[in-house]
Amino acid sequence: MLEEIPFSFEHISIALLLFDLTLDVFLCFRQRRRMNTHFRVPKLLSLFIKEKEYSDNLEYSKDRMSFKLFQLLTVSFVKIFTLKRSLVFSYDIATSILSLKNLSPDDIILSRKYRYVRVILWDLIGDVINLVITIPLSIYSTFHIEKKHGFNKTTPMTFVTDIFKELIVGLILQTPIVLFLLWVMESFSPAMIFVVSTIFIAVFIIISQGLYMYIIAPLFNKFENIESGEYYDAIVKLAEKTEINIKQIRKMDASRRSTHANAYVIGFGNTKRIVLYDTLIQQLNPEGVCAVLAHEIGHVKHHHSIKNIILAIFSASFIIGLFVLFVNTQKVYDDMGFGYTMVGREVLNLREWIRRKGILFTNDEEMPLYNVYGINDNPIFLSFSVFSLILTPVTLLTHLLTRYLSRRFERQADTYAVSEPLNYDLMSTLCIISMNSKVFLDDDWLYSLFKHSHPNLLERMESVGCTKINVEAVINKEKEKKKSEEEEKKQKSEEEEEKKEEVGDDC
Ligand SMILES: [Zn+2]
Repeated sequence: MLEEIPFSFEHISIALLLFDLTLDVFLCFRQRRRMNTHFRVPKLLSLFIKEKEYSDNLEYSKDRMSFKLFQLLTVSFVKIFTLKRSLVFSYDIATSILSLKNLSPDDIILSRKYRYVRVILWDLIGDVINLVITIPLSIYSTFHIEKKHGFNKTTPMTFVTDIFKELIVGLILQTPIVLFLLWVMESFSPAMIFVVSTIFIAVFIIISQGLYMYIIAPLFNKFENIESGEYYDAIVKLAEKTEINIKQIRKMDASRRSTHANAYVIGFGNTKRIVLYDTLIQQLNPEGVCAVLAHEIGHVKHHHSIKNIILAIFSASFIIGLFVLFVNTQKVYDDMGFGYTMVGREVLNLREWIRRKGILFTNDEEMPLYNVYGINDNPIFLSFSVFSLILTPVTLLTHLLTRYLSRRFERQADTYAVSEPLNYDLMSTLCIISMNSKVFLDDDWLYSLFKHSHPNLLERMESVGCTKINVEAVINKEKEKKKSEEEEKKQKSEEEEEKKEEVGDDC
């Protein structure tokens, strides 16, 4: 069926890229317009946030949004104009690198080892091309926008080493996955490809948390155990209260890159670790940090990580299932410049090779190589790149579903933190973090629907029942508490003075 589609896959890919770009630009414009029209502090937040602070923060959000639009347009246009050329270009470079070892295209096709090495090289070259396009944008974002608004702490040295680390870690992680999937694609029937790839991806998703915790994260940041002090005591109390097994409490040096703050609980069963950004400790007192952690523990209590893993496995298997139907479509390879012309050229070279080896040869000039030898040289990862574009409408729907569930999970975790027996004042804490991170708090609803994994602060406040009236009540209560504390202090100091005077008189 896919072979008979009257349009070229190159054109379909470009049309879908354009569709994706138009949707993103439309959403960004909506959000930008919202920022221009909603520049006052939302009523519910006016109790916590001063007008001046809010308008300063709005400037940061506007700058980021303008940059996002520019980045979106630049990257998408480069991608659209070079889609076919960059794929063929990086494939040819990979072949040329191998030819330095005196390997002809035929040698590469006939050797599984070299075919695989070519795919790895091809993948790596694609990553490098991608980096060349994105590095200038990343430099502008880190050293201009983030610096201008006081967030950037990254030095040029950290910036450069991060790029190399990311490239190397990406290569080390990707290579076994790519090689295994290539082997599966070459070795099994479509039904078995589906089963084996799904099991492999499921195992990978499950162990990826451990990989991140023990191997990847320590490459980028330093971790230090918190074993005493007021934060430690407060967190241990919280863990006891919530009956959660915590193996370690660790502090991460997030401040080496930025002042943005966060915390997370990672791991399963008895291997759970709490990770606090040092920036969070700088911004909040122990009570505030515990309020954030109570939210994170809410995720654990509702088994959100497990639900997310199951969801990821289901969506991965769904995508693999569709891909299996798509992978043998010769039209994809033809339309993207990898089809008969290229295979034909290699078949011609092979003819001589075969004559030399005295192997029988079929007469069908047009027959793709893999039909002649049972070798599929069609670059499966080309097919996957095109396939991921064709899948845009489907991924858009799964993306919306994931976002919806994620926001639902956030609300559940919030409810856990603010309800009995914990009763943390999470919303004021989130207000402090949001203001310090200069987050825009009055988002366009459609932009938020597509782009945010968390509901915005206003929605979170409303969902835990913080209407303006009861926020006022809380604030008044706090004020009264402070007032009575001050009066108590005053009374105490007066009493002490009186005592001193009495002692003085006695002397
Ligand atoms: Zn959360």
